[in-house]
Amino acid sequence: MKVPFLDLSLQHRTIREQALAALTATYDATRFCLGKDVEDFETAFARTLGYSQTLGLNSGTSPLHLAAALAGWGPGDEVIAPPFTFISTVWGISYVGAKPVFVDVEEDTFNLDPAKLEAAISPRTKGIVVVHLFGRPAKLDAIMAIARKHGLFVVEDCAQAVGAVYKDTPVGLTGDVGTFSFYPTKNLGGCGEGGALVSRRDDLFAKAKLLRVHGSGRRYYHDHVGFNFRMDGFQGALLGVKLHLLAGWTARRREIAERYRAGLRLADLQVPAGAGPEGESVWHQFTVLHPRRDALREHLAAKDIGTDLIYPVPLHRQACYLELGQPAGSLPVAERACATCVSLPIFPELTDAQVDHVIAAVNAF
Ligand SMILES: *Cc1c(COP(=O)(O)O)cnc(C)c1O
Repeated sequence: MKVPFLDLSLQHRTIREQALAALTATYDATRFCLGKDVEDFETAFARTLGYSQTLGLNSGTSPLHLAAALAGWGPGDEVIAPPFTFISTVWGISYVGAKPVFVDVEEDTFNLDPAKLEAAISPRTKGIVVVHLFGRPAKLDAIMAIARKHGLFVVEDCAQAVGAVYKDTPVGLTGDVGTFSFYPTKNLGGCGEGGALVSRRDDLFAKAKLLRVHGSGRRYYHDHVGFNFRMDGFQGALLGVKLHLLAGWTARRREIAERYRAGLRLADLQVPAGAGPEGESVWHQFTVLHPRRDALREHLAAKDIGTDLIYPVPLHRQACYLELGQPAGSLPVAERACATCVSLPIFPELTDAQVDHVIAAVNAF
């Protein structure tokens, strides 16, 4: 039995007719940049997931860049972030000339470890970018308590956590700014690049809206040095079609995760934790750790099971950040995760039989 790591065609086949009708309407109306499709999506996204307003953007990296600009970070400033994440988490920090300072993650959740935060704070520290990795909410209360004490601006990178709720609050509304990605492989994915920004602070949201379109509220008058971060009409149209299906997809991801958690029994395999007090994961990834992960991957590949390494290198050991001077061995939890992680297939269209095949193959290793 073949189990691909991810097959986007299955999802798109089931919505083909509605999707092509929506995309055709956008095409016929030539609503190519922002416009009604994006506005309708922004409204629907906000209403469906519990935000007062959302801003559609052209990638998940753009809101992280906007967040860094809104925070006012710049040269000489330090911003704390986890090292076990996708690189975009820290691009915004670097784009504005500030310096990422990596703090290790928790053993069981892979999210920023609040217990290690305070030791990394210096007089130059201006903010924290926290990630809800693999869809699991991070420990925001503990992180916010430290942030408030030191006057730090907090960004929530929710790229992998669309639909996740921290205690009773949708992710993105506890910190100052929340950011989303609609890259095609994300839990809610477009037919191209896309992203969004949310904020509980109206002042920041209003400024982000100006910055999105060349720092301009009125055409050809520019109050700020801005960006071109507009979402395109096709993304708004397709994401609007998919949004209604997200809750069902998330429920199916949770079923698959529970099936894995109940069935995986291999010795020395670290299986991700279930729901905790900070809420339930939306299971963007199901990532396990095993000391012989390369051999495990080969064993699974021989049984036609796709896997991925998410992520193989911690950010402080990426070539572009070696100059920051955080040596190998300095962030042991993230380093061990990168050295031993394997992500198993988890997407809504997987059948129980496929999940059971993966479980049996892992257990037989
Ligand atoms: C996908 C992702 C982003 C943003 O990615 P884009 O490709 O720019 O949409 C940011 N952070 C994390 C953790 C991600 O997984």
